[in-house]
Parts: sequence; structure tokens; C-alpha cells
Amino acid sequence: MKSICIFILSLISTQTIAQDSLARQFSQIINKEDLKAHLTKFSSDAFEGREAGRLGQRLAGTYLANMFEKYGIEKYKDSTYFQRFSFEEKRISSAYIKIDSAELKSNKDFYLIPRYRVPKKHTIGKPNVIKPEVFLNSDSLLEGKEWTVYLEMDKNLEEHIRKLRLILRHGIRAKAKTTLLVVSNIDSIKSILKDEWEHSQNQLSSLSEKTENEYLALLFSKEQYQKYIGKLKSSKKDSASFYTTWNKKTFYTENIIGFVHGNKYANEYIVISAHYDHMGKKGNQIYNGADDDGTGTMGILLIAKAISEAKKNGVVFDKHFVFIGMSAEEKGLLGSRYYTENPFIPLERTCTNLNIDMIGRTDMLKHEKTNYLYIIGSNMIDTALHNVNHLANEQYSKLYLDYRFNNTSDPNQFYYRSDHYNFAKNNIPVIFYFRGVHEDYHKPSDTVDKIEWDIYTKITKHIFYTAWTIGRSPKILSID
Ligand SMILES: [Zn+2]
Repeated sequence: MKSICIFILSLISTQTIAQDSLARQFSQIINKEDLKAHLTKFSSDAFEGREAGRLGQRLAGTYLANMFEKYGIEKYKDSTYFQRFSFEEKRISSAYIKIDSAELKSNKDFYLIPRYRVPKKHTIGKPNVIKPEVFLNSDSLLEGKEWTVYLEMDKNLEEHIRKLRLILRHGIRAKAKTTLLVVSNIDSIKSILKDEWEHSQNQLSSLSEKTENEYLALLFSKEQYQKYIGKLKSSKKDSASFYTTWNKKTFYTENIIGFVHGNKYANEYIVISAHYDHMGKKGNQIYNGADDDGTGTMGILLIAKAISEAKKNGVVFDKHFVFIGMSAEEKGLLGSRYYTENPFIPLERTCTNLNIDMIGRTDMLKHEKTNYLYIIGSNMIDTALHNVNHLANEQYSKLYLDYRFNNTSDPNQFYYRSDHYNFAKNNIPVIFYFRGVHEDYHKPSDTVDKIEWDIYTKITKHIFYTAWTIGRSPKILSID
């Protein structure tokens, strides 16, 4: 599928001026007081951290659907706001390596880096050593093969861990079979990553076993590796056997989907999304997820309300709008993956995805511009989308659009880390709106009292203006 988007500068500049007063009028529906009232409820303890497949997520999904109904957002085929799907969660119970008479145990002699489809049994043969830079710049070379990467300690531990993550992710993307990472400073890495690994070993999630590639990633200290794996020869007798066992459970969840339809000639759909699930609770600690991604979800709710009110008041749209509260994003972008594999509207007719995740706080970088907004992905598939967003900002929002993370090789890898990626993967132009990672990210302390309401409201309005501009212009982002 190839989408060709036509962008006519003269058309948009005259149209935006003509539509200025209407867009501004209906943008008033998006206001601080309503965002605050909704988000205070949505991120309250009553929704138990909204973990996909659990009661709290179901309550939050029902809240969003009820609000869609209240604001006159249309249902799919007039019948439902819910797109139900199942996913699996796995808990790894043991992992070990047998070699000659020795038995190496995970979390002691080596570390199993949690991945959904770890093989039950795998034979590790003679090491195939590759330099980190070569590994990161190879794709086809890696596919189906087993690699050992020696990662030398960086001066900066944070940088070292970023590289480690980059290597692991690249191994999956390039469909390597195995990545054996060997490091000299295993203790310092362990102290940083242990919690994360243990948490995700309890919770590896996937839509189904079949959709995942088998991938094994192991971390060794230099000493242990050289003692056992480094000396392996290719003969079958001389190999190591990796084993693992796990338990699996199926959960049900739902994406919440609403429509505002355009005029009778409209053929294309603008998808505006945010994930409404979060991390649930651990013991009696609730992860409220006010910023992540309560802000995005309540943002799309009020954008939907504003567009719907405009339509009720006679404003005509040349494109349709689809508003999606995605579920199971925190489990690995599962809701958007399910939606793009089973779309309510064919992807060929989906001209863009505007995705919002965490727009209510300031991140840990020191910004000169307090009204910054990270824009990610806008020019990667189609510059027309980039231009519309830019013009909407000039015309209405006057934010500082910050493109520092708009890069597929950025170590943070944000381009791959929220739901827009599943649309981008299908060649649909996307924008990921984001304000960065703060100190309460993925902690119980991501609570509503820390939201910065003025900038949050401003950004929500900006996304509304961008959606409005695309929706009111038949020639912008038209699919051929
Ligand atoms: Zn998020």
C-alpha cells in the first residue's frame, strides 16, 4: 500500500485563514477545567491503575465509552464502542544452561533478558562474535543466527545501558535467533536493570504465541562466558543446552473506538489515539498513570467532543475522524497492533494517525522553552503531515516544536515506543505528540496533582487544530 499525499500550500494558507474563527470558536470546548475534572476521575484509585485485562481497565474503558456517548460520538456501525481482543501473559519460572556436568542458573550465573517467545530448549553452539557497531548496522546478516556481542564498558553507565538496550532491540528487529551479550561490569548493570527484568519476567505479554519470533537474549559476565560458552567448539557433543519453563494465562481487554463522520463525499479517516491502560497495582500501591497516558486519553476525549460539537453546529468535514483509546500499550503496544491487524476501517483509507502519550508534565531535560512539545515521526513518511502540523502551530498554537527525538537512531527509540509505530509500520503518516520522561514515569507517583494544566490544555488544543486542518481540507493528506 502506498499513500500519496497532496499538499497544496496556497490552498491551506487561504483555508486556514478562512477557518480561523470557527476553529478557534470550537477549540474553546477544550478547557482546563474539563480536562482537570475528567483526568482527576480517570486517574483516581477507583480505576486501580487501569492494567489491561483487569477490572480497573474495564472500568476506565467503560468511563471513556460513556463519555463518548454523552458527547454524541458515533459508534462503529451504530452498535459498539468496544473492540475486544485477547492477549497472553507468561511468567517464566526457571531458566538454566547445562554444559558437560555443570548447570548454570539464571539470575546467578547468567541473566535471561525477558522476551515473550523464549525457546523452551535451545542448543548454544560455537560463538559467532560480532562487534557492537557491526551488529547495530546489520540487518540481513543477523537473521536466524546466533551472535555473541562483547560490550565494553562506557565511561558513562547510562550510555552503556542505552547501548545494551539498543543491541537487544536491534536483535529482535533484525530477527536474530540469539544474542549473547558479554559485559565486564555485570554488577552495576544488574543493580540498574534487575527490577525491570524481574517485573517483566512476571509479565511477558503477546497477542498470541504465533505473532512473535523466537528470540533468546542472555547476559553473561566476561568470566562466566569465557569459562563455559567461549570455549565451545562446533561439534554437537560440545555444546550447551538452554532450558526454560513458564506458565501462561489469557486475558481479555478492549480498545475503545468512536467516530465523527465527515460529509457524504468523505472517504478517508484520521485516527487520533492515546492508550488508556497503565500498569495496575502492585500490592497496595496503585500506579495511577495520570500523565501516562491519562493526559492523552482525556485529550482525545475533549478533541472528539469539540469536533462533534462543531459538526452538530453545521461545520462540514471532508474527512472522517476515528478516536481510539488503545488498550494494552503497556504490555507492548498490543492494542494498536491488534487494531492495525483488524482495523474497523481499512488501513488503505486511513490517511494519518495522530498519537498522544504523556503531554501533561515537563521532562528531566532542562528546557529554555517552557512551551515545548516533542514532535516525532511527522516527516518520516510524508512531509505534508509535517507541514500541516507546523502551519497549525504558526496559525494557532505558538508552541515550541522540538524535533530532537525525531530520529530512528535516537538512543531513546521513542519512534518505536508508542502506538503510532504500528500505523507507521503500515506506511501511514504519523505524528507522535509527547513531552518526555519525568522522574515519576512508570512509578506510583505519576499522580494528577503534578499535571501542568496550562501547557496540557494548550497542547491538546494544538492537536485539535492540526486534526481540524486536515479534516477540513480535502486535498491535504489525500490518499491516491
Ligand atoms: Zn504511555
